[in-house]
Amino acid sequence: MNSEDIKQGEASALCRTYARYPLAVSRGEGTRLFTPEGRAYTDLLAGIAVCNLGHSHPELVEVICAQAKKLIHVSNLFYQEEQVSLARRLLGTSHLERVFFCNSGAEANEGAIKLARRYMREGRGEERYEIITLSGSFHGRTLATLTATGQDKIKTGFGPLPEGFITVPFGDLDAMKNAMSDRTAAVLVEMIQGEGGVKPLPDDYARGLAALCAEKGVLLMIDEIQTGVGRTGKFWAYQHLGLTPDIVTVAKGLAGGLPMGAVMCTEEVSKGFPPGSHGTTFGGNALISAVADKVIEIIERDDLCGHAARLGDLLCERLNAMKSRFPEKIAEVRVHGLMVGIELTHPGADVWKALLEKGFILNLTQDTVLRLLPPLVISEEELAAFCLALESILAES
Ligand SMILES: *Cc1c(COP(=O)(O)O)cnc(C)c1O
Repeated sequence: MNSEDIKQGEASALCRTYARYPLAVSRGEGTRLFTPEGRAYTDLLAGIAVCNLGHSHPELVEVICAQAKKLIHVSNLFYQEEQVSLARRLLGTSHLERVFFCNSGAEANEGAIKLARRYMREGRGEERYEIITLSGSFHGRTLATLTATGQDKIKTGFGPLPEGFITVPFGDLDAMKNAMSDRTAAVLVEMIQGEGGVKPLPDDYARGLAALCAEKGVLLMIDEIQTGVGRTGKFWAYQHLGLTPDIVTVAKGLAGGLPMGAVMCTEEVSKGFPPGSHGTTFGGNALISAVADKVIEIIERDDLCGHAARLGDLLCERLNAMKSRFPEKIAEVRVHGLMVGIELTHPGADVWKALLEKGFILNLTQDTVLRLLPPLVISEEELAAFCLALESILAES
């Protein structure tokens, strides 16, 4: 099918949930994407922070083929070596001690919410079920996770929503303190709000929040679905501040493009999931686990966290120079490894479109923020080419 056939086919058959970019993609290679007609783009979005090793990484292709020939799926009724190997490697990146594998980010957060509730109820009493989240957050699209999400547009039309969720203003520690009560089970936050426009929690707020949770005996749950797996220059974003959350959720980059999520927790908190309390048919199947295992192996072997940190520093310098040159066009530059937000002073649809026309794929969030989540294997030269393109667009607009 050519691009037009695909667009017309979709219009008559798929649900209309997605506002698509005006682009069909039929092939990927490294940091490049290609349309059916063969036009090449530089991918600065990586399938929304998913394809951290780029597209069709030869070693991932090799594991996918080899594992597919050996075993794809048997269900969680069986022990599987691939899960053990992945669990060890994944837990080795953090202070956490146990992991539950699932299939997506929303499902990881849903699992974390269930885990927190059940753990707190059993240890601390029937009334400890409330989850506190922040305004501007994004935690997923299932009923519980959209209720946890601090953006009203995600919730429109889907009520009645589950009880037991409170949203407090972003960055306001007093508001958080006031919202905590005998009913609070856990706090769920992103270290850097992704869909919210690449907004980091201020350092003193994050440290204060961790201290507050410890003081009140409330679980600290960090949603690392977008920030995890090396994206920000460390394997986990909370590691920049040396925090020790009780529960961490991950998904997007975990299996290099195959759907996978995980809930990681301490030994103590894992008591909230006794046998039979939670489960999934697909979660962590042999194929996906083998791939995720390889993804982490390569990230560690090739020091892609260090690479993301170095390129982030260079990009930060370059973008801030651009901001000085165009102070009336760029409001703020937020760079955390290879999680990058360029906040414009005006709606960014035109700039976004001009970049696409020049062959750069990125994302526009919250109307004014150009968001870059490139594959962690991107080169300095490719980022420099993007900067040149953006500079020329800003100079002309
Ligand atoms: C993408 C995302 C989710 C939801 O993940 P899905 O796999 O789309 O369900 C949750 N939280 C954060 C921070 C995300 O970026």
